[in-house]
Amino acid sequence: MAGDRINLQDEIRNLLEELLDLEESSHLFVSLYLDTSVNAEGQRVHPIYLKQKASDLQHVIAAAKGEAGLREFRDNLLQIESFLAQSLEKTARGVAVFSSRGRGYFRALQLPVSVRNKIAASAAPNLDVLIEILQQNRHFCVVVFDQQSARIFSVYLTDIVRKRQLSNPALPARNLPGSSSKVRYERRTRDVVQHFLKDLAEEIENLMRTEKTQGLVLLGTQANIAELRKFLSAEIDKQLLLTQNPPAGTSDSQLLDSVLAEVQRRQQMLSRQTLEQLYDRLSHDYLSAAGLEATLFNLQQGKVHTLVLSSPFAQRGKKCPRCGSLFTLSSNECTYCRTPTVEVDLRNQMEKLAEHHGAKIEIIQEPSFLDHLDGVGVLLRF
Ligand SMILES: [Zn+2]
Repeated sequence: MAGDRINLQDEIRNLLEELLDLEESSHLFVSLYLDTSVNAEGQRVHPIYLKQKASDLQHVIAAAKGEAGLREFRDNLLQIESFLAQSLEKTARGVAVFSSRGRGYFRALQLPVSVRNKIAASAAPNLDVLIEILQQNRHFCVVVFDQQSARIFSVYLTDIVRKRQLSNPALPARNLPGSSSKVRYERRTRDVVQHFLKDLAEEIENLMRTEKTQGLVLLGTQANIAELRKFLSAEIDKQLLLTQNPPAGTSDSQLLDSVLAEVQRRQQMLSRQTLEQLYDRLSHDYLSAAGLEATLFNLQQGKVHTLVLSSPFAQRGKKCPRCGSLFTLSSNECTYCRTPTVEVDLRNQMEKLAEHHGAKIEIIQEPSFLDHLDGVGVLLRF
């Protein structure tokens, strides 16, 4: 089970890359993200959402693409519904499905976490939610410890995938009277504790390296945390997400719930900070740009550190089939090589370019100033 979960992260990344690499075709592509977790009554309610949204979308497609488009959409929907009815696992709390019958493409990914409901039908897959899941750092290591024992958890998405215990068997008994022996006792205890923390640090490093976790949460007293950190390598210490001192006797599942809530809160804060940083930089005309044209230009130059996208952004644009450069809809010819451009879904093309250059992608859920700047902006490397 543990192995499966860890591979899921690679699986998501591979699927994302595969979808980003698909060339656009004239066939319809249906992307569906469903929250398949059960409600308080133990029921899955996703069929209700799917029915409602699919029927809303049918009207739009019928109006825009006519009878043929509608038939294509229904074909895809049938394929998706039959997958959900036959193959959805009981434990899946979320599912992502990408279907294009016209081009013989179908992929489904069952997830141990619930996802934001979303359905989209267009010429290219919609990758928002997939990117969100990857961005949120949800594979990390949690250590609950004192000077005598430690519990180490490897947490993936919302579940504990591995748990190890470490205890310090060598803590000396305090049985020698007298002041000189008291000094010796204290020195010996300190040595033993240092030794234990050093072992613990090694154990943490091993686990984080082998499982490729991307964050560390340390739960203990401030003094113990400070001591332990002296033994952690700079590379691992850099990944420290959070420290807390939970009351003794807190159960593992309570610990995990509170850690997950805090990590999520911090991630939302980071996404807000990116937005604030973008605003701040834009207002100082420093290593930043906003608006579609400027964003495309900088992406092309490989200068982008973080691509910031407003969640509703869904513009179409043009791409040069020769050199791959991206333009707004009004450019009929590539400004670099003079080749006539073709129409594309800009969002996926931008995300693909950002991935290609190793840039971060931040998707902003709430309305913001960015919505007045075409919904896109960038923090630049240089
Ligand atoms: Zn070109």
